Amino acid sequence: FYIIVILAKTTKIPYNYPMTSRKNYHVSIVIPAYNEESGIVAFHNTLLMPELEKHLPNRYEVIYVNDGSTDDTLKKLTNLASNNPRVKVINLSRNFGKEIATTAGISKSTGDAVIIIDADGQHPPKIMTQFIDKWLAGAQVVVGVRKSNQKEGVIKKVGSKLFYRLMNSISDSQTIPRSTDYRLIDKHVRDEFLKFTERDRITRGLIDWLGFRREYIEFDAPARIAGEASYTVSKLTKLAVNSFTTLSLRPLFIFSYIGAFITLVSLIVGIFILIEQFILGDPLALNFTGAALLGIFVSFLIGIVLIAQGIMSIYLSHIHTQAQNRPLFVIDSTSSVNLDKDIK
Ligand code: UDP
Ligand code: MG
Repeated sequence: FYIIVILAKTTKIPYNYPMTSRKNYHVSIVIPAYNEESGIVAFHNTLLMPELEKHLPNRYEVIYVNDGSTDDTLKKLTNLASNNPRVKVINLSRNFGKEIATTAGISKSTGDAVIIIDADGQHPPKIMTQFIDKWLAGAQVVVGVRKSNQKEGVIKKVGSKLFYRLMNSISDSQTIPRSTDYRLIDKHVRDEFLKFTERDRITRGLIDWLGFRREYIEFDAPARIAGEASYTVSKLTKLAVNSFTTLSLRPLFIFSYIGAFITLVSLIVGIFILIEQFILGDPLALNFTGAALLGIFVSFLIGIVLIAQGIMSIYLSHIHTQAQNRPLFVIDSTSSVNLDKDIK
């Protein structure tokens, strides 16, 4: 009896999760790569370090997605694949961007858990074992969170702060600041993720939207092994705009609020001028000119136009959500009760 108690105390049984699904587990590692020829082999060598091999006692696969690189990345990847049957390469026909490349890799993954990691060494593979531990303990999504990165430029730093502030204030799902694409998702989350059909996508935004039990792991982001980040400020801006517009509809309505404000103000001022100058005969001696009157009238009309646009936005937003065609809901788990048995 005591042996059983001691065993029960020392073995961690994942809460609320059937043990069998985490036995003999199989992990997929998905890596998008675009023009990484100078660092990819070094990265690969740090990826398959002995710690990880020990931690993945059963099966694992490494899926590289070559996102239309124009350099020798593909050649290096196929070389890696021919030396190791666990390494697989998906070669996209052209550059589709990281988000799509990642999705392509996830769609071909077969593991019980999928880890997404950058190919440039900025996501230390060392902590992958911690991701797996959290998953084994019951987390369905494990998110890598960057500790503040000193090497970043001022624009990127301020920009990212502003981004998260805005993002969390306008969207329904919440994003932790500095959370990255370095993530582990359970196969159940993967299956739900693959149901998304929208084209303009931000992988981490969609994973955040899905919910599920999540855990966070902080890490220090080192500099790239080699090459330059292909995300320039303009590309990042595009990414941010995409995040706002795919995860929130509020930007659509901003202008109707502005319109309503302009209309209201010009209406009040217009009525004031009308009464003060034309009905009461200008007792305050303000002497409004015709140009002033015209100005107020024009801004009143501009306000009306903006409101009309806002109303159109409401219809547009319905079309937008319908076109995104997201699942209505996402089920984590179900439990059925045998009613017949209960009645007896
Ligand atoms: N990447 C990609 N397609 C692209 C741009 C980047 O697959 O069009 C990959 C790149 O090879 C790397 C990861 O996405 O593995 C992150 O890219 P990068 O380091 O340029 O961006 P940042 O670190 O600024 O997020
Ligand atoms: Mg990088």
